[in-house]
Amino acid sequence: STQIRLASYPVGEPGDDSYETAVADLPELGDGQVLLRTIYLSLDPYMRGRMSTAKSYAAPVQLGDVMVGATVCEVVESRSDKRAVGDVVLAYTGWQTHAVVEARETRRLDPAAAPVTTALGVLGMPGFTAYGGLLEIGRPQPGETVVVAAATGPVGSAVGQIAKVKGARAVGIAGGAEKCRVLVEELGFDAAVDHRSPTFDEDLKAATPDGIDVYFENVGGHVTEAVVRRLNRFARVPVCGLVAWYNATSAPEGPDQLPAFLRKVLTLSLTVRGFIQDEFVPTHHRSFLEDMAGWIADGSVRYQEDIVDGLENAPEAFRGLLRGSYTGKLLVRVGED
Ligand code: NDP
Repeated sequence: STQIRLASYPVGEPGDDSYETAVADLPELGDGQVLLRTIYLSLDPYMRGRMSTAKSYAAPVQLGDVMVGATVCEVVESRSDKRAVGDVVLAYTGWQTHAVVEARETRRLDPAAAPVTTALGVLGMPGFTAYGGLLEIGRPQPGETVVVAAATGPVGSAVGQIAKVKGARAVGIAGGAEKCRVLVEELGFDAAVDHRSPTFDEDLKAATPDGIDVYFENVGGHVTEAVVRRLNRFARVPVCGLVAWYNATSAPEGPDQLPAFLRKVLTLSLTVRGFIQDEFVPTHHRSFLEDMAGWIADGSVRYQEDIVDGLENAPEAFRGLLRGSYTGKLLVRVGED
């Protein structure tokens, strides 16, 4: 197996020296195990957290270990009656071309039901994150205004479109005019605001004339500062991610925002609640798969993917992901599909 391993814990943006490429021999298959060939590797912002020893909800990748990640793979050898050679499965084999895993740690995909890439995006962890966080914490009501940033990405695009299904007004924040065009023209958002524009604050105000009832927090940084000023009484803020700060090496400049923020939490009776998507699996995963498949089928939810060819290009693609270089769900095509 060709593997990309973590070579050092990066400070700031992970450079090429954060990784090392190696070829590893694969173990003999034991009972119940399968040999997998990676077709697609998902790149996701949480991977930056795994490249750090700072305390978090999951353990870091150890130096010398293969970088983690969800994959879509083909079974090429099987010693399990649960998986046959040729099956396509969802697995968690990371940044490598092949792996031996327990068959029960894989989920079989039905390529006839949906393109297999969707198991890493709209029908997978990012789509589920949007569904659980928005419906359980955001609870959008008809006529309310829902705002989400990183809005063209797999989480944000699902948040906005589910908000529309629930009868709310969806406002997306994204970097650049082209992403804003995609939000309105291709993903059906009611309005889009470019956070890189010098008139961002005024544009956000114009796009949210009735204030903001739900802010699905994906980014932090200057976007959050502007949004907090527009929150309504009883607004809900599911805190999903803070990608603006994942590569940060120092605290943001300027005055401490915490007192003003907590005063808003108090005086506006805000609900601010963080979550890690796993916590909603027992309660929401079954309904998610049903609802999302239905919404895709009836056109209520659309999705976009960006596919980069070649495992060797994963480090550069991952830098691009955190910089905002991609529009849709970012995947690496590791092997032929
Ligand atoms: P995306 O594919 O949307 O990629 C990240 C996007 O963040 C970029 O495309 C960019 O979009 C935006 N961004 C980067 N820097 C900034 C900045 N300084 N200000 C504003 N926007 C910025 O990611 P995902 O959809 O996969 O994930 C979205 C968020 O959800 C992330 O924070 C992620 O960590 C989080 N997440 C949380 C989970 C949980 O369980 N809590 C599970 C899954 C994801 P643009 O060019 O539009 O600015």
